[in-house]
Amino acid sequence: MFDRASVVTPGGVNSPVRAFRAVGGTPRFMVSGTGPYLTDADGREYVDLVCSWGPMILGHSHPEVIAAVQEAVSRGTSFGTPGEGEVALAEEIVARIEPVEQVRLVSSGTEATMSAIRLARGFTGRAKVVKFAGCYHGHVDALLAAAGSGLATFGLPDTPGVTGATAGDTVVLPYNDLDAVRAAFAAHPGEIACVITEASPGNMGVVPPADGFNAGLKELCAANGALYISDEVMTGFRTSKAGWYGVDGVRPDLMTFGKVMGGGFPAAAFGGRGDVMAHLAPAGPVYQAGTLSGNPVATAAGLAQLRLLDDAAYAKIDAVSAELRSLVGDALTKEGVAHTVSAASNMFSVFFTDEPVRDYDDAKKQDVFRFTAFFHAMLERGVYLPPSAFESWFVSTAHDERAIERIAAALPAAARAAAEATA
Ligand code: PLP
Repeated sequence: MFDRASVVTPGGVNSPVRAFRAVGGTPRFMVSGTGPYLTDADGREYVDLVCSWGPMILGHSHPEVIAAVQEAVSRGTSFGTPGEGEVALAEEIVARIEPVEQVRLVSSGTEATMSAIRLARGFTGRAKVVKFAGCYHGHVDALLAAAGSGLATFGLPDTPGVTGATAGDTVVLPYNDLDAVRAAFAAHPGEIACVITEASPGNMGVVPPADGFNAGLKELCAANGALYISDEVMTGFRTSKAGWYGVDGVRPDLMTFGKVMGGGFPAAAFGGRGDVMAHLAPAGPVYQAGTLSGNPVATAAGLAQLRLLDDAAYAKIDAVSAELRSLVGDALTKEGVAHTVSAASNMFSVFFTDEPVRDYDDAKKQDVFRFTAFFHAMLERGVYLPPSAFESWFVSTAHDERAIERIAAALPAAARAAAEATA
């Protein structure tokens, strides 16, 4: 299948990290998923610790989500008109996340962050955007700049195809460094439209915000007339009922969502302050649109999933995460592997270093070759980890004792492989 795919699709995949380039080997083609398990085209079963990179928080093929999808599909798949499902999903989001007064539905996290930035620029009449090195906000041209962590470094495009002009209004700063943000506001008075940050980053591995970092961002934005945009595409509806906002309570001007809120379908959103959202077309002048935005099948899946995510569900996910973190940590310690299990609520990842990891530069100092050995040893034993040392691991309510036992059984050999690995 990978050979076939490689003929007709660049690199054989439709999203780069699926290709296993960071760890080597052939990506597994999955044909079905049930609860915490995925089955590949060769009939092998894996305990899934990727969960579609976040969305499958109830596990695969949850009967109530599937039933909601089937019911929606039976009425048609897209109308290109407003519908009740999208209103109900928007109401659910607004009810859960207090700073969100209004929300606009889109189809991907990338669209959400792209549109939020356009809105911030339209609202403030300013051009510059501050982002942090190591934070990923989708493949938005202006946000694909992470040109090192120098103080107030002007963004240089990270990829061919993004012009210097597009990235030139992006200021890339080191994560968890409020002095750098202060300096950027001082260097560009009246020019910064917004600061966008992952609410708690999971795209350089899990690197939570230091105490007071998000609150400091909010304060600096407010003092300088810029908007504070919290990207909760990954953390939203995962790290608590109200996402990371439910953890740290720092009130953003705009927020972005995706992943969990789509229940495994393409649904995402951005929302926030009513006066800012009022600038969006057709209520206001900032244009934004989408043929499949608020799609009835996607919104039915998302709504069914969110309605199942009650306090008990989050308690379960948190408990599974805590148990796995301790199992992984113990296995690596037993083999004398330098490591840090880094967690933000129930999101976690393992850095193969015992030095503190506060930003992207720290994350890059880990022994990535040990992760590679660990990853393949787990995969051989039927545990599917993210194929990169710089990604969060995700668990679900479906990860039961049997799934955890299978992970526990794979860990000793994987920890040994990590210990024996050479650069
Ligand atoms: N923002 C964050 C924090 C993400 O983790 C991602 C995807 O991983 C995105 C935005 C982009 O979302 P999508 O892949 O749906 O475009």
